[in-house]
Amino acid sequence: MNNEEKIKQAAEILSKAKNIVGFTGAGTSAESGIPPFRGEGGIWNQYDPNSLDIDFYYRHTKESWKIIREVFYNFFSNKDIKPNPGHLVLAKWEKEGRLSSVITQNIDDLHTVAGNTVVYEFHGNMSRFVCTKCGHKVDAKSLTLTEEPPRCAQCGGLMKPDFIFFGEGIPEDAYYGSVRAAENCDAFVIIGTSGQVSPANMIPGIAKRNGAKIIEINMEPSTYTNYITDIYLEGKSGEILPAIDALMTR
Ligand code: NAD
Repeated sequence: MNNEEKIKQAAEILSKAKNIVGFTGAGTSAESGIPPFRGEGGIWNQYDPNSLDIDFYYRHTKESWKIIREVFYNFFSNKDIKPNPGHLVLAKWEKEGRLSSVITQNIDDLHTVAGNTVVYEFHGNMSRFVCTKCGHKVDAKSLTLTEEPPRCAQCGGLMKPDFIFFGEGIPEDAYYGSVRAAENCDAFVIIGTSGQVSPANMIPGIAKRNGAKIIEINMEPSTYTNYITDIYLEGKSGEILPAIDALMTR
């Protein structure tokens, strides 16, 4: 079957589905201009990923903060980054009552900016900071980011971006929310993820075991493609998602 026929088939399944869940990775934001971490053009080809290790952040705070500020707050915020057509389709499906949630491994906040209101942020979100001492959270935009890492306005503790560093656990609400969403959906759409990052990569298997149809969009096969995927659509998510959406019955 060619891609066009498979897109039609995916549109049929998603038109009939009562509860769609989206599961997204770095590839979903590639067309918004956010580079992947690994592979060609990946951020960690230029920087040492150690700077995102939580112990390293506590022990070598200034050194680690310099890189974090450069990569996540100077580089990203200097670019005109906004949701791409793929993000917008997922937000549209939520508004139409077809999609119950998006589980995302991305930390870029783009699903929320696009309009999705139920987003399980498996790895947290860079648009917030959290105090490492009292847990107080603030919007990154409310802080002036200098050479010194930000300090908590409530307790003076060291703050860090509210995404998961290496060595930190998955936020409980995102973890259990994702498991419940995967258990209860009848169509699960895997978008732009290689499936190499654990434990996030266990979530699609839960949907499969509970009987959901698995539709996958990627530029190349992932660890899921030959194991759990029912319909594999090769291409850019910013093109394939709108193509599916255009064929859906309403
Ligand atoms: P990954 O880098 O391991 O894999 C990205 C996948 O996206 C690849 O399989 C690639 O073929 C595919 N891809 C690339 N461009 C695409 C496009 N336009 N359309 C569809 N697919 C495309 O990403 P991952 O599996 O999400 O794991 C990386 C980890 O790094 C995640 O845990 C995430 O937290 C983090 N990360 C986040 C961002 C972000 O927030 N935007 C960016 C980079 C990395």
